Amino acid sequence: MRFAIIGAGMSGILSAIKLREAGFREVTLYEKADRLGGTWRENTYPGIACDVPSHLYSYSFEPNPEWSHRFSPGGEIQAYFEGVARKHGVDRRIRFGDEVTRCEFRGGRWHLETKSGHRDEADVMIAATGVLHHPNLPDIAGLSDFEGALFHSARWDHAVALDGRRIGVVGTGSTAVQIVSALVDRVAKLSMFQRTAQWVMPQENPAYSEAERAEFRRDPEALRALYRNLSELFSQSFSNAVVDAGSPQMKLIEDACRLNLEQSVRDPELREKLRPSYRAACKRLVISPDFYQAIQRPNAELVTAGIERVETGGVRTRDGRLHELDVLVLATGFRADRFMRPTEVVGRGGRRLDDAWSERPVAYLSISIPGFPNLFMLNGPNGPVGNFSLIEVAELQIAYILQLALLLRSGRCREISPTEEATARFDAERVEAAKRTIWSTGCRSWYLDDRGIPASWPFTFDRFRAEMAAPKLEAYERVG
Ligand SMILES: Cc1cc2nc3c(=O)[nH]c(=O)nc-3n(C[C@H](O)[C@H](O)[C@H](O)COP(=O)(O)OP(=O)(O)OC[C@H]3O[C@@H](n4cnc5c(N)ncnc54)[C@H](O)[C@@H]3O)c2cc1C
Repeated sequence: MRFAIIGAGMSGILSAIKLREAGFREVTLYEKADRLGGTWRENTYPGIACDVPSHLYSYSFEPNPEWSHRFSPGGEIQAYFEGVARKHGVDRRIRFGDEVTRCEFRGGRWHLETKSGHRDEADVMIAATGVLHHPNLPDIAGLSDFEGALFHSARWDHAVALDGRRIGVVGTGSTAVQIVSALVDRVAKLSMFQRTAQWVMPQENPAYSEAERAEFRRDPEALRALYRNLSELFSQSFSNAVVDAGSPQMKLIEDACRLNLEQSVRDPELREKLRPSYRAACKRLVISPDFYQAIQRPNAELVTAGIERVETGGVRTRDGRLHELDVLVLATGFRADRFMRPTEVVGRGGRRLDDAWSERPVAYLSISIPGFPNLFMLNGPNGPVGNFSLIEVAELQIAYILQLALLLRSGRCREISPTEEATARFDAERVEAAKRTIWSTGCRSWYLDDRGIPASWPFTFDRFRAEMAAPKLEAYERVG
């Protein structure tokens, strides 16, 4: 059996490793960029780090004793993925600089076309194309008039000098907060343009000492135990809290955020500007050891007047003020509803993904789509996305996908896709459960679909584990 994996980020690398371990030899990865790493290749802004502990934000089978911090910087994470890919020989299977532009299921196989004109066929296709991948550019009047440097946080221009200059950051999410904390002491003036205030969960980010790292090296079992403990902690506390807005765990999180705001911000006026009008974790929770300290520096300003337009010299706010800037950073997030699009995907009988998803992306258990046989997604629509490790999520998903692949290999069927009925039933249950989550409690966020319904996994993490443990074959249509 031949596999094509689209994307060589965390999920694509993982898929290739697990397929090879299961004995599948014919595996090719397509990566449109010239380097692997996905998110961690593209996001190189100052201050970038994971906000899930590094010892959990690792593959379970590749613990890393060398993490420098509890939340390690992005460059280290990129190097980790490169190292793992090299160790498992994945890098040799990647076609770099080759974007898959079209795939069609015809005659029982997937036919792929790439931008370079290359063609390929595969029995199974895995879309590991990422969820936070397509930068979201805000619709602000005059953006193109700006005469300083202007870029999205995922397209950082390292040729632009920052020290001693006037920097504007549009946005208040996790990325914006990391940038502000990293830059404030280097620049002449830092203006953060806030549309919505964010709750900030305080989390120290201590460095691991050489002695601690040596101990991790000496005792791999201790490292594995740490992973298991962190995983348990996150699934029992955070992920269970967000799916039940009335839970005691949620209250603990809210209390911690409120206390952080009350105790850390001295000026009552600034404190009120920073106080969100919705519940903590309704939007993705910002984790930071020092954001409140950073925004209180004398050269920092939280601008809440609302952006009127961008002009040649800076940002004009609705109160008529011009904020003069040398650099304007758009930390405005990603279009989280794109998934493998704009790739043209054509399933059985000429069915187009664009049509199947014309209203919004839908998938059975976030992995597969009716009418698109032998196509599986990692971190697809409605999967668990939030303040926990997406690596853990992807590992559970690939273990599930492998079981379907083994079914195909056994010859018990040649094509497998979820039934319309199972998908509709799952989706209806998901939408109902979403109403009880913290994401439904009245805020605007990228978790919400066009109807305002949270698009992420609304059940407990234990349920996700249980669903991923073994496919329910009655939910699938099997052909051949
Ligand atoms: C700033 C930032 C911080 C984050 N921090 C955390 C964190 O702390 N913890 C956490 O769990 N998650 C975090 N995430 C989420 C992060 O995206 C995932 O953890 C993970 O890296 C996703 O890996 P992926 O392989 O699924 O997708 P990606 O990393 O997005 O990789 C997708 C790859 O597919 C390629 N690709 C896409 N389409 C095509 C095509 N048509 N043809 C060929 N190649 C294609 C892309 O070029 C890319 O390399 C963060 C995300 C961002 C943006």
